[in-house]
Amino acid sequence: TLALSVKNLRKTYGNGFEALKDISFDVEEGDFFALLGPNGAGKSTTLGIVSSLVNKSAGEVSVFNHDLDTEKTKAKMHLGVVPQEFNFNMFENVKDILVTQAGYYGISKGVANERADYYLKQLGLWEKRNGAARMLSGGMKRRLMIARALMHDPKLLILDEPTAGVDIELRRSMWDFLQEINRAGTTIILTTHYLEEAESLCRNIAIIDHGKIVQNTSMRALLEQL
Ligand code: ADP
Ligand code: ADP
Repeated sequence: TLALSVKNLRKTYGNGFEALKDISFDVEEGDFFALLGPNGAGKSTTLGIVSSLVNKSAGEVSVFNHDLDTEKTKAKMHLGVVPQEFNFNMFENVKDILVTQAGYYGISKGVANERADYYLKQLGLWEKRNGAARMLSGGMKRRLMIARALMHDPKLLILDEPTAGVDIELRRSMWDFLQEINRAGTTIILTTHYLEEAESLCRNIAIIDHGKIVQNTSMRALLEQL
């Protein structure tokens, strides 16, 4: 099964800038996949389109065989998204942010509560659960974004620079967490600046440059070239 299929994706922004020229790649179910490339290459734009946060100019995207245009609701049920920018309400209570999110997906209060507690513990946010989100450190806010994305138990998790600005020790524990949920069956796609991150986590990669895919291969094959 394909977790994600991206075909002939193009994006021209409102100012006329052509950020994506012709992006195609597939991600198999169960994969841990990295989208690599220099700053400004088009990684966030690609993930933004897959996440329905950015409108595409042309092309097709499907998530577990649900077309993002024609079966958007079904596609989105399978998708958990962790954007780069913190986009939760800083004044909302940490646990409420998680429970509220689950509500959007029709998850019962009981299940939402249990799941929130589980991720709060797993991600080191338990002590902070009753405080406002603005009281969290940057790394904690990042983990709250991850917990929130997992509340509806998506089959595909997409993370844009999940460990940017996080110190190496915390980065390692976030890697362990992501590896664990991947082993448990969640397909993961991330973008990263840290080659080490892609190296230790990812099985397959696509490299994007100037809005085009310049390589799409296994991490192992990429490392053999270096
Ligand atoms: P769209 O074509 O998807 O509607 P827009 O061109 O309207 O996107 O831009 C969306 C937002 O991104 C605007 O608020 C714009 O100011 C901002 N923006 C413009 N240029 C850049 C840039 N180079 N990098 C990041 N954001 C930008
Ligand atoms: P990456 O994630 O690989 O760093 P992005 O997808 O953020 O790259 O950006 C790709 C290109 O599109 C960059 O040149 C960026 O400046 C431009 N860009 C991003 N958002 C906008 C926007 N809203 N309007 C105009 N240009 C944008």
